[in-house]
Amino acid sequence: MPAPDDGKGEQQLDLDLAAGSGDGQHLVSPAELAETDASSWLPTRAAGLERLRSFVRRAGREYARTRNYDDGRSRENVSGLSPYVRRRLVSEVEVARAVLDEHSPSVAEKFLQEVFWRTYWRGWLYLRPQVYADFLADLGTLRQQLETDRRLGAAYQKALGATTGIACFDEWAVELRETGYLHNHTRMWVASIWIFTLRLPWQLGADWFARHLLDADPASNTLSWRWVAGLHTRGKHYLARAANIRKFTRGRFDPSGQLDEAAVPISDSRTYLARQFQELTPANTLMPASERVGWLLTDDDLLGADLQFLSEACVVAILAPERQQATVANRFVQGAVVDARKRIEATGIEASLLSPHDVVELARALRLDAVAALDPGCCANRQRLLELENHLESNGVRLDLRMHNWERQLFPFATAGYFKFKKQLPRLVEQLRPLPSRSAAS
Ligand SMILES: Cc1cc2nc3c(=O)[nH]c(=O)nc-3n(C[C@H](O)[C@H](O)[C@H](O)COP(=O)(O)OP(=O)(O)OC[C@H]3O[C@@H](n4cnc5c(N)ncnc54)[C@H](O)[C@@H]3O)c2cc1C
Repeated sequence: MPAPDDGKGEQQLDLDLAAGSGDGQHLVSPAELAETDASSWLPTRAAGLERLRSFVRRAGREYARTRNYDDGRSRENVSGLSPYVRRRLVSEVEVARAVLDEHSPSVAEKFLQEVFWRTYWRGWLYLRPQVYADFLADLGTLRQQLETDRRLGAAYQKALGATTGIACFDEWAVELRETGYLHNHTRMWVASIWIFTLRLPWQLGADWFARHLLDADPASNTLSWRWVAGLHTRGKHYLARAANIRKFTRGRFDPSGQLDEAAVPISDSRTYLARQFQELTPANTLMPASERVGWLLTDDDLLGADLQFLSEACVVAILAPERQQATVANRFVQGAVVDARKRIEATGIEASLLSPHDVVELARALRLDAVAALDPGCCANRQRLLELENHLESNGVRLDLRMHNWERQLFPFATAGYFKFKKQLPRLVEQLRPLPSRSAAS
């Protein structure tokens, strides 16, 4: 079902990404890329590294002191790195290393904890894929309900159309659509107002964010909405309060009297036990010399600085992104894929953009023994890879799913709350801290 906000300034891009479209020449045109630039997040690794370089000085005490303020669209107090980290144009390890090069672990602790939240959410969902499957199923039901339930449909239209009459919410709904970004505190307020004041189902809100955020991530997004609703830590919800909004927007907004500040948490009888963590091959494991292996990347992990993984591959391909609506967010993804392809080709390796069907054909034609790919975690690409695995197997080709060491080390600890998880931070920081210089060491 087309979403009601899709008509607003969002024309369908002419993307030729249908199965079998081959090399994806039409992925994104220069004009469309320029439109993405306008949102101030250029979808390239170079732009991500530049953002990291200019932010790193502020990642210490200044970040800890000011990060909760939403000062409008100028964002000096947070990094704005999430779109890059989400697609791994820049990796978590690169971000943490750069920050630790500049600050001591204790000064950088708050910022590193935030980077760690992403890994916690990814690990938590990885161990409980049913949570995401249930979210998608609920969403399907709710979309049908939108067509029959007039009250629900009208409230949903008002929220997406930024006409609820709650000035801050309406402003942020426009900001989300125009820029693909909202400050963390604002995401919490928006989600809370959506659920507890507008009384809309959290799943529809998570889907709205997922379609518009530049950093839209199945784990961080879905689980943050569940957290706000009171489903992550059972019975503990996040209530947006007018006084808090007034303080942290420095008086730009004051929705006094407009919010339900006494709502009770959402309840849901479904419980989810963590499955056993299954170790995958580390991403950087050498290919056996006797095997012919190809690498397949997805838009969930465009490998940051780790392109050396690809050097021994017989062939490198990127799974073509699925055809999407033309939001700012989707233009970012498509631009990121174009950028990854250029970076790979700059190392002298040809990288084609292929549909799953073409991947199987290529693997057969080149008589590959295996196709290596990074496990993207719970998301549509994981589903596509698992389907691909069946087709590859029936052609005698193995899918070699791999995982970065950062996630291999941390995912097994995402079994309970974040408090337990973050106890792993000092160990990781120790591994990442810059080595003492020769003169200091001697
Ligand atoms: C309802 C809701 C939905 C969200 N959806 C997403 C999402 O789809 N994708 C996403 O990456 N983040 C999501 N977040 C988390 C957070 O809001 C963003 O990561 C953050 O605002 C990104 O801005 P930044 O890069 O300037 O963050 P900074 O404050 O500079 O943090 C540095 C990095 O740490 C990570 N990070 C920071 N806070 C969080 C957090 N609470 N959870 C997970 N990672 C975090 C991000 O990778 C970020 O780039 C959501 C939060 C809420 C409340």
